[in-house]
Amino acid sequence: RKYVLTFEEANPDDVKLLGGKATSLVLMTRLGLPVPPGFTITTVACKEYYKSGEKLPEGLMDEVIEGVRYLESKTGRKFGGGDTPLLVSVRSGAAVSMPGMMDTVLNVGLNDKTLQGFIKFIGSEHAAYDAYRRFLAMFGRIVLGIPEEEFNKPLDEIKRKYGVKEDPEIPLQGLKELVDLYKQVYIRRVGKVIDDPWEQLRLSIDAVFKSWNSPRAKFYREANKITPDIADCTAASVVTMVFGNADWRSATGVVFSRNPATGEDELYGEYLPYAQGEDVVAGIRTPKPISELKKEMPEVYQQLYEGVKKIERYKKAVQDVEFTIEKGKLWFLQTRNAKMNPLAMIKVTVDMVKQNWMTKEEAIMTIKPQHILQVLYPRIDEAKAPKPIVKGIAASPGAVSGQAVFDPDTAVEWAKAGKRVILVREETKPDDVHGFYASVGILTSRGGATSHAAVVARAIGRPAVVGAEGLKIDYSTRTAKAGDVVIKEGDWLTIDGFTGNVYVGQVSTIEPKLPPEFYELLDMADSVSVFGVKANADTPEDATIARRFGAKGIGLLRTERMFRAPGRLELFRSVILSTNANERRDALNKLAELMRRDFEEIFEIMEGYPVTVRLFDPPLHEFLPNVEELVAEVTRARTLGRPDPEKEALLARVRALMEANPMMGHRGVRLGITFPDIYMAQVKAILEAALELKKRGKNVQVQIMIPQVSEYKELEYVINNVVKPTAEEVFKNYGDRIDFKIGTMMETVRASLTADKIASVVDFMSFGTNDLTQAVFSFSRDDVENKFMSQYLNLGILPYDPFVTIDRDGVAKLMKIAVDLARSVKPNIEIGICGEHGGDADSIRILAEVVGRGLDYFSASPYRVPVARLVTAQESL
Ligand code: PEP
Ligand code: MG
Repeated sequence: RKYVLTFEEANPDDVKLLGGKATSLVLMTRLGLPVPPGFTITTVACKEYYKSGEKLPEGLMDEVIEGVRYLESKTGRKFGGGDTPLLVSVRSGAAVSMPGMMDTVLNVGLNDKTLQGFIKFIGSEHAAYDAYRRFLAMFGRIVLGIPEEEFNKPLDEIKRKYGVKEDPEIPLQGLKELVDLYKQVYIRRVGKVIDDPWEQLRLSIDAVFKSWNSPRAKFYREANKITPDIADCTAASVVTMVFGNADWRSATGVVFSRNPATGEDELYGEYLPYAQGEDVVAGIRTPKPISELKKEMPEVYQQLYEGVKKIERYKKAVQDVEFTIEKGKLWFLQTRNAKMNPLAMIKVTVDMVKQNWMTKEEAIMTIKPQHILQVLYPRIDEAKAPKPIVKGIAASPGAVSGQAVFDPDTAVEWAKAGKRVILVREETKPDDVHGFYASVGILTSRGGATSHAAVVARAIGRPAVVGAEGLKIDYSTRTAKAGDVVIKEGDWLTIDGFTGNVYVGQVSTIEPKLPPEFYELLDMADSVSVFGVKANADTPEDATIARRFGAKGIGLLRTERMFRAPGRLELFRSVILSTNANERRDALNKLAELMRRDFEEIFEIMEGYPVTVRLFDPPLHEFLPNVEELVAEVTRARTLGRPDPEKEALLARVRALMEANPMMGHRGVRLGITFPDIYMAQVKAILEAALELKKRGKNVQVQIMIPQVSEYKELEYVINNVVKPTAEEVFKNYGDRIDFKIGTMMETVRASLTADKIASVVDFMSFGTNDLTQAVFSFSRDDVENKFMSQYLNLGILPYDPFVTIDRDGVAKLMKIAVDLARSVKPNIEIGICGEHGGDADSIRILAEVVGRGLDYFSASPYRVPVARLVTAQESL
């Protein structure tokens, strides 16, 4: 045989040959579960069908006849037989599921003659005629292409005639009349009733193959990028029909092998006695919970339970199983991996490791970064939520409240004023992206899950609801209407990027409660990972979250905010501006004292793990008063004839500090060399804090990191003239010492190209890939997003934003060169990355590939630590 394989002889791994639906039946057959006998006409036949101009290949029907004979022998029924008719379904199914896109024909084999045997079998004339009229309509529509109205019109007539609203209420007489009316439709449209079962079967197979290239199926494949190497044609399976509506010992149902919402290890699902699939969909009778079946048909329940568990164990994934009970006998009709809530998914995966059903490694590979991300964000507190005013597509996870604004510029303006805003637009375009960054959430009335708004919101981690079509937005009045509700600019909205719901007002959200399994999974990840994960944390709050999420230390503590806090900015300004040496020293000492307390707090939280403190990085003028305001004040004073010499001196000093290109200017290590007082004060504060904790018996591991280096002599100079002398002084005053490491940021091209020299003078290095990306591309990291990046992406000039995901061909390559150089002189030097890329799953994958184990750790912002732990583990396997 060339085209036909029975479920008993096919191989369940041949997805491309058999299609997904058939492989699930083949697998269940192989596992010894009761599956209605069937066979599959493989995709090979479908491909030949198209090659020969949509004709069934020669010899195919002979094989099909042989297949039907096999079904007859398995079931003891006869295809086209009057007494014990065999009825079959003809089902489409490609290698990937294309839900609802292709056709399936049920009850093939029914005609006036077989109907009689079917009535006897099913025990109800009503049920049999109902199946018959459904078959005539389905076959007519799908196989013969008769328009649906042709069948709907008589159906409505009959319902009117008998005064009923719903299909199942039509009395037997009405069904009989309907069958006659349908036969007349056939005669009118195709000249005859197709009552030869073999012709029905042949035409149904033809129709299933044809549906592969229906416009909707083609469109679906294009939209979902299903290329021929993924799925190249459909298979057609011929399966024995079983009936859940044969008597009260019959039923149809759906069951999950575990609870898909919670992950609890219990059967979850429902069933409807004396019914078939359509009845469940129609929702006229309420199905019963599966636990009832345990009472009503304990043996069937037990068989179902064992079967479902057997598949689950084989597939190592929770199953969503369709079944039918026909006269007390259970049949498995379909199984697939269940769609689950991500927390449930994590729980189940960890449980399966504990049950020894899967290995730690398999568990780590099962969970995707998206699962982790989805459980970390706040959710709507359903108990306290009002009715949503409108619902759209859940496009980017998280629930968030903000004030409505209708254009991106206002979003930016309001955000600068400290407001939380939700950007509401009909749809968005690349020019709006600055508004995304300024907003806490995005809401659009048009577009789908791959619209611009959705893609960008996900990329930058903003919750988003898109395509909320019930929302009528009027830019001219800055309002939006949903039914009777009018939303004005500034009104509070809450959007739920998990469900697509939109609410008026500030709906309370719940911070996610992470189950123990979440942490257990990440501990498993750590146990196989060859990379470490640390956090970028500047405050005690950050450090606490980072530690809770399992960061093994701080890879970057940016110290700038310690100078910006209220009360400190003034002190720092006098350090920069004062010409009086005593005043400056005083201010610096006070600052050092305040910073020492900050460090103590953070070191204590991170006890036992290294904390990498980066010395002062930004240009000084960022801390000074605004020049334009100063100029205005000085001018005003002069015009009033009362010049203010102090202000004028200040202005002169501020002007002197200004630079044409401050990001490439007097900052980082350059300041450390020319303005050493600041670094000295920081080193003093860090080491005093460390010694203080040491005195209290705490284990502190201090690493001091110097930024913006491009030449190793810069480092040599600050280490020998600033850091070390200060340390010695602190140790002397304290009467105690502590070990600490000195390292550098790698964020210039030159540092990377001379990494061997740099390595020779430091204990560790950490790639600042934000600045390094800026330097490698010569793109201003603060401006690209608003200016040209989105256009570059739309035009395909860049495949992705290199400030989000590390540039493989340039930046990652340079890092590889640097790491090799550094390790050539100091093989065991510690090397990490602390740019934003450290928490981006794709970047971690790229770096693991390009740089590999030359990197020791990834440092990520606290909320991204869990993803980094998972992905680094996956990349270690
Ligand atoms: C970097 O440049 O990648 C970095 C971590 O430092 P910052 O973002 O503070 O410049
Ligand atoms: Mg930097």
